[in-house]
Amino acid sequence: MEWIELDGSRGEGGGQILRTALSLSMITGIPFAIERIRAGRKKPGLLRQHLTAVQAAAVVCGAQVEGAAPGSQRLRFQPGPIRGGDYAFAIGSAGSSTLVLQTVLPALWFADGPSTLRVSGGTHNPAAPPADFLIRCWQPLLRRMGVTLDIQLLRHGFYPAGGGEVLASTAPVTAWQPLQLEARGELRRTRAIGVVSGVPVDVAKREMQRAASSLGALDEELRVLPSNEGPGNVLMVVLEYPELTELFSTCGERGLSGEAVADRAAREARRFRDSGAAVGEYLADQLLLPMALAGQGSFTTPALSSHLGTNCLVIEKFLSVRHVFEESDGVVRVSLA
Ligand code: AMP
Repeated sequence: MEWIELDGSRGEGGGQILRTALSLSMITGIPFAIERIRAGRKKPGLLRQHLTAVQAAAVVCGAQVEGAAPGSQRLRFQPGPIRGGDYAFAIGSAGSSTLVLQTVLPALWFADGPSTLRVSGGTHNPAAPPADFLIRCWQPLLRRMGVTLDIQLLRHGFYPAGGGEVLASTAPVTAWQPLQLEARGELRRTRAIGVVSGVPVDVAKREMQRAASSLGALDEELRVLPSNEGPGNVLMVVLEYPELTELFSTCGERGLSGEAVADRAAREARRFRDSGAAVGEYLADQLLLPMALAGQGSFTTPALSSHLGTNCLVIEKFLSVRHVFEESDGVVRVSLA
């Protein structure tokens, strides 16, 4: 079989090129070779999160792999048949467990039976979807597409300690339904979720108040975790629409005031709320793969992000689908030709 050659420095130049290639290689059975992995990032090559995704993919389909070593910038992956089962993978750092989950789950939708997938590591990381995002935003849309999926957040994990855990149950998809998300409907509810672990409760309270001063009236939900799950802090702004839920988050960091944390999340939420698009920038690039697997669908999003464009290119290498982008009224409509 012919190998697909990928250049990891293209477009976004991040880990998503590798993760999408792993998912689609498992599903299609097509082997791939990738060079310059994560060349666009400060620390290029395979970090523990990417390495765990590679190893998890290899276990699930019995793949032959070359180049799976820390820091490696090239990898060869030759998949075998996908097997359903009960799997557990540990990143061993605060690397994002949700990104590992998103790599392996699509393959399990094509397995020979139901599966459970447990991943430990970080659950609320900068530059990755928080577990709450997968549960509240991504999962309901996948269910609408015919996917059996139940994701649970068992324990929070933050940078740098990690130690969090997510658990997903899923099953092979019997009939894909196209997702049509052209409009989101009227905003029903705005919620701020302030999470603290080993950090003063007052920090989360101040963040939620600050978010309210920027976004208007909202429901506040305080999540105070045992301090051994931290230290950690995250503010999540949740916007609930009839058609979907969106979530914008910022992780607390040393040297960043609670007000600054709140302002970042609120700014992103406001930008999306003020746009006429159905899905936000992050959800958009995370819907592309399921949409392509369904073979049909469309959504509108505020702009063509580099993650979105890059992910389309990788998907089009493995599947005979073509993405169409149409810009009108300040939003981009993405559909399959
Ligand atoms: P990469 O940078 O290539 O490793 O990909 C990061 C992935 O995480 C992309 O799918 C982004 O959409 C997603 N992502 C990054 N930040 C967030 C966030 N704050 N909320 C939800 N998803 C995110």
